[in-house]
Amino acid sequence: MQDGPDPLAGLSAALAEIRGAGLGRHMRLLEKAQAARCVVDGREVLNFSSNDYLGLAADPRVRAAALEGIAAHGVGAGSARLIAGTFPPHRALEEALAAWKGTESALLFSSGYHANLGILTALAGEGDVIFSDALNHASIIDGCRLSRARTQVYAHRDAAALECGLAAARRAGAGRLVAVTDTVFGMDGTEAPLREIAAAARAHGALVVVDEAHAGGVLGPRGAGLAAAHALGADAVHVQMGTLGKALGAAGAFVAGARTLVDYLVHRARTFIFTTALPPATAAAAAAALRIAASPEGDRRRAHLAALAQRFRAGLTARGLRTTAPEGSAAPIVPVLVGDPQRAMRACEALLERRVWAQAIRPPTVPPGTERLRFAFTAGQTVADIDEALAALDAAHDLVRGGPLASALDAAHDLVRDGPAASSPGATRKAPTAR
Ligand code: PMP
Repeated sequence: MQDGPDPLAGLSAALAEIRGAGLGRHMRLLEKAQAARCVVDGREVLNFSSNDYLGLAADPRVRAAALEGIAAHGVGAGSARLIAGTFPPHRALEEALAAWKGTESALLFSSGYHANLGILTALAGEGDVIFSDALNHASIIDGCRLSRARTQVYAHRDAAALECGLAAARRAGAGRLVAVTDTVFGMDGTEAPLREIAAAARAHGALVVVDEAHAGGVLGPRGAGLAAAHALGADAVHVQMGTLGKALGAAGAFVAGARTLVDYLVHRARTFIFTTALPPATAAAAAAALRIAASPEGDRRRAHLAALAQRFRAGLTARGLRTTAPEGSAAPIVPVLVGDPQRAMRACEALLERRVWAQAIRPPTVPPGTERLRFAFTAGQTVADIDEALAALDAAHDLVRGGPLASALDAAHDLVRDGPAASSPGATRKAPTAR
């Protein structure tokens, strides 16, 4: 019996409001493995919704490594890394990741979300200023909030605004300055101007933190990411976060950088210290995936993936459909902008009817007015699959075309541009609450 007021009262009303705004969510069920063709909610579909970019999540060699890891070390780590949870696969993977990234050291985290929270809270605190791209991932936004540093959001990819903000913060006597950015933006397919960001940071003595979640395994030599693609070493990009759950097909994440940085994170990153270690078998699986990703086979998969994304993007242009993905980019993410939550959902369903699955992405994942179908590609797809996706878009063209998208996109950008971060470089702006 409940005596006082129902503590859950209000949740149903809030849910009704969320659903009424076309923002209700549910989890679709994949019956078999993650793959280019998968069975979702009982229906076989072409899968354009995963981040399994290299098609390694169900690769037999990666599965075998996981099974061997379980045979040797059991299922769970049973403890945090610093207590009784460090196993040989953790060490081996950290060494392989550091070698791949060309850094002195690397440190595993249980997820990308943990990694970003851990990095930002360890490296920034009161008196410090974090400069964050307006479209950075939610885990970066939350890391900024948790850190207690001032957060100054700069317009998407605007290295000049970042430079201006860094200079002002330096003049104002701020403590540590940190510039943080996704390298490939997972919902947009855009790339951070890393060279310009690194140059601005160098000029003002700021730390550069990059999130390579969507670039790792996909861009750069041996798939080592966008920093590697620009030949930016650990002296220019100090903290590289990467994930193991996307192109590497496993789960977890890592930070690569100087030994001092990693050692510091071991002592100060609370999301590293106070959580159970990644299962050793997962580390073994990620190491097997990394061997493939960094090999000539990985190069072939990357070339195919880039060709698929470019074919799709060209198909959108030919149809007059809008995307945020830049022309010529090798990033495997090419969203189709719709600009309305309900229409995005209906378009997603219409495509599913034609057995093409590109999940609708709505706020708070993307700014209101920029709702989209996120097409992400995987090396297991064929050119025919891309053409089938384009044909499905033709069939749903009334849903994906039209609407007040242009003004909504501009409004979303103005939201960022008109903030105090841009209008008065020294001022602080909180990380956007919408995301
Ligand atoms: N950063 C970015 C840019 C991401 O897209 C994601 C996952 N969507 C994360 C971090 C979080 O990684 P994880 O899924 O391993 O928690």
